[in-house]
Amino acid sequence: MLFQYNLYFGILSVTVIISTTVAFAAWQRRSISSASKPFISMMLAIAGYATVAAMEAAAILLREKIFWSKLEYVGSGSVITLFLIFAMHFTNKNRWLTPRSTALLWAIPTFNVILVATNEWHGLVWSGFLPDPKGTNFVIYQHNLGFFWIMACVYLYTLTGVVMLIQKALLPSVLSRRQSSMALAGAVLPILGASLYMLRLTPPGLNITPMSFMLAGLFYFVSLFRFRMFDLVPVARDTLIENMSDGVLVLDAKNRIIDFNPALKHLIGVNKQHIGQPAAQVLAKWPEIIRLYHAHESVKTEIFIDSVTPSYVELLITSLHNERKQLTGRLLVLRDVTQRYQTEFELRQANEYLQKQVLEIKTLQVQLQEQAMRDGLTGLFNRRYFDEIFPKELIRATRDCDRVALIIMDIDYFKNINDTFGHQAGDRVIQLFADLLRNYSDSQNIVCRYGGEEFVLALPGLTQEKAFHHAEQIRLSFQAARLESGGKEIYTTVSGGVAVFPDHGKTTDELLQVVDQALYAAKLHGRNCIKCVQSN
Ligand code: GH3
Ligand code: MG
Ligand code: MG
Repeated sequence: MLFQYNLYFGILSVTVIISTTVAFAAWQRRSISSASKPFISMMLAIAGYATVAAMEAAAILLREKIFWSKLEYVGSGSVITLFLIFAMHFTNKNRWLTPRSTALLWAIPTFNVILVATNEWHGLVWSGFLPDPKGTNFVIYQHNLGFFWIMACVYLYTLTGVVMLIQKALLPSVLSRRQSSMALAGAVLPILGASLYMLRLTPPGLNITPMSFMLAGLFYFVSLFRFRMFDLVPVARDTLIENMSDGVLVLDAKNRIIDFNPALKHLIGVNKQHIGQPAAQVLAKWPEIIRLYHAHESVKTEIFIDSVTPSYVELLITSLHNERKQLTGRLLVLRDVTQRYQTEFELRQANEYLQKQVLEIKTLQVQLQEQAMRDGLTGLFNRRYFDEIFPKELIRATRDCDRVALIIMDIDYFKNINDTFGHQAGDRVIQLFADLLRNYSDSQNIVCRYGGEEFVLALPGLTQEKAFHHAEQIRLSFQAARLESGGKEIYTTVSGGVAVFPDHGKTTDELLQVVDQALYAAKLHGRNCIKCVQSN
């Protein structure tokens, strides 16, 4: 074969190198996205296409040029088919790629290759070949209907892919916009190249389509490394982030908004126009969020957001770093926890209410217990209390080898007071005597109204003599006390009996029995006196 190496050959060789490099770089990142496989194949197809185009450019003999031209259609057919498959994967439409539809996609370019290969028989693609009148190495291919059919297929495939990429570029995410824009630019350039050639706007015979793929390759190269075309999987973003109930906000290293999801839009009213704007400006209403992402590398906290609907929000801030540990941006996840807060609040309230009720019940219980052991008229302990506490006191005294004096006192001729001055006056006399008993007792003494106008006193540690003296003091004080009723003075006396544990009895009943006898003796003795139980 005869070759003449020219500038066109050189440019196409560079195209081969670039496409192969991009394919290799994408290969290294292939595992992440399903779009990477068709992309790598497309870049390799471009490399193959450019190789064949370079051969065509360098070939001198017309026969050889035609041979390489025919082979070019294998390359271009593969490139457009792979581009469409790539665009489908990249825009998450790969579910359309069933075995049947894939076979159909490949069938059309295959048919076109056959059409070109058999051109000698029908002349449908090229009707003739002319040497360049300027004397260059180019051949001017005279196009027939078949060529325009093939071009129509090329446009159909590429434009379908382009529409898919445009749709994706219109999503609010800056990242997907940049990625798709790069993918778009890569696609548009060869379309432009092919159009210029077809409209004969290029120098005669110069098909710049393969060369425009070099620029396309460059764009893809930038997209791969700068915008990480395959690093951030579009599938994950669309299906996860878009449908997440948590609000997601992505900031770049300069804290500008580069992405957000619908949940965030609902939560704090961020919209498409805010993309690219400083977060501090957009989130000005919530300085707490701004303060938090400035102050912390990563933080999880709860804040209150007074937005369209005031809500409690769990905020998770994560700083994003590249391999060189440089800050590349921030991820803010906002979870609406208002419902939880409300439930907690209601629970707290219910709890407080219950605690209050428990306290009230406890107070009532104490009051009831008090009431159960107190006498209503005098406030002194009642008989029930005495019956409960006195045996315990005896047990204590037995344990401590102590004595307990027991005094019983009964107001004399009390019935007469009731009869003379009325029941109320009688009550006042009882109250007066109770006050007197209280004044003469200390915290150790147990003082009870035993019933009617009868009172008992338990005095721990007292001898009979001291108890007698105590009772005598009370008797004398009561004798001296006066009450007034209807301009008349009421006065009476009291009689009493004194016994001592363990000398006069070992049990409550024994003691009560003997002390009652002493009281009876006092009454018999003329009242207004205290009698002691005699020791055997
Ligand atoms: P004695 O000197 O023998 O003790 O004679 P007394 O009149 O004091 O004794 P008696 O047992 O005959 O009468 C006691 C009276 O006390 C009978 C009862 O109506 C009255 N009484 C009992 N409890 C109360 C009370 O709470 N208030 C009033 N006003 N009277 C009461
Ligand atoms: Mg009595
Ligand atoms: Mg009496």
